[in-house]
Amino acid sequence: MKHIKLLAAIALALCISFSAVAKPKIRIIATGGTIAGVSSTSASSAYTAGQVGIQTLIDAVPQMLYLADISGEQLVNIGSQDMNDEVWLKLAKRVNQLLNEEGYDGVVITHGTDTMEETAYFLNLTVHSEKPVILAGSMRPSNAISADGPANLYNAVAAAVSPACKGQGVLCCMNNQLLDAKSVIKSHTIDCDTFEGGHYGVIGYVYNGEAHILQKVTTKHTVSSVFSVEKLDRLPKVGIVYGYANCSPLPMQAFVDAQYDGIVLAGVGDGNFYKDVFDVAVKAQNSGIQIVRSSRCPSGPTCLNSEVDDDKYHFVASLDLNPQKARILLMLALTKTHDWQEIQEFYKEY
Ligand code: ASP
Repeated sequence: MKHIKLLAAIALALCISFSAVAKPKIRIIATGGTIAGVSSTSASSAYTAGQVGIQTLIDAVPQMLYLADISGEQLVNIGSQDMNDEVWLKLAKRVNQLLNEEGYDGVVITHGTDTMEETAYFLNLTVHSEKPVILAGSMRPSNAISADGPANLYNAVAAAVSPACKGQGVLCCMNNQLLDAKSVIKSHTIDCDTFEGGHYGVIGYVYNGEAHILQKVTTKHTVSSVFSVEKLDRLPKVGIVYGYANCSPLPMQAFVDAQYDGIVLAGVGDGNFYKDVFDVAVKAQNSGIQIVRSSRCPSGPTCLNSEVDDDKYHFVASLDLNPQKARILLMLALTKTHDWQEIQEFYKEY
């Protein structure tokens, strides 16, 4: 009996010490971008994105291994200017599988910065888990002087293991900052400090391997999202038309002729149309193509029924979403409904 008690005590002690050292399981999904880019000379600004593979990215940051049990996989290796619906669907399905079926505690996605905000928002609406999903990239290629990729990747892993980042939806981690998927925008073409938090600011930061959240994300996302990609193998076709003085209606007409399901206007000011474009938009809406008004202005909402009578024409106002994110929400909304009022509700909630 004494022996059995002793053996049980040893087993318990082993279990406790094992769980004390067991680190969170983090999967890194690599998709390319400048973080995986290579320049022909480290001093030159000319480079090609999406060149080095996942293992090289992991090997460059051995410090991550103190924070987590790290493993990786390569989904694609592209510049994010070439991101597309097919990769988004594959990525969202894979993240759901890793978090909900394969027991990972968090996912880090390495990604180009050009369309990082779009991928983050798409995942924010289609990943169904409270566990952290963090996107990281870099503005300088992997072999540049002062490459910013390794620090951004390390910080992203620190965020992915942090309980503070749970339930905040998908986040981007760049330049020591944490930015939420709905607000984040790339604001500068070449600086490392390119990401901004739009209307709501940066929601947190990572310092010394620890993530700090300063404000909670309050809009609907991830586990409270009604959108699902599990049964989808394509997304509705939605295009963006850019507004300007003396604007040609041709791009909007081209989307109509190509039978797009929806069109987002990157309008002037509070989502206003040039008159010739407005006429095509009214006809498009009447033929069943949903029009969403957004704005080319870098900040401020596109308000419902301000200079445009949305109730009369059944247009939808994108509210706090910029055109590229308004496009993503419209694609997902059209998988659920074609009722303009229900679609408008989605813009209020997400
Ligand atoms: N064109 C690159 C990309 O988005 C830029 C970057 O990653 O910073 O893939």
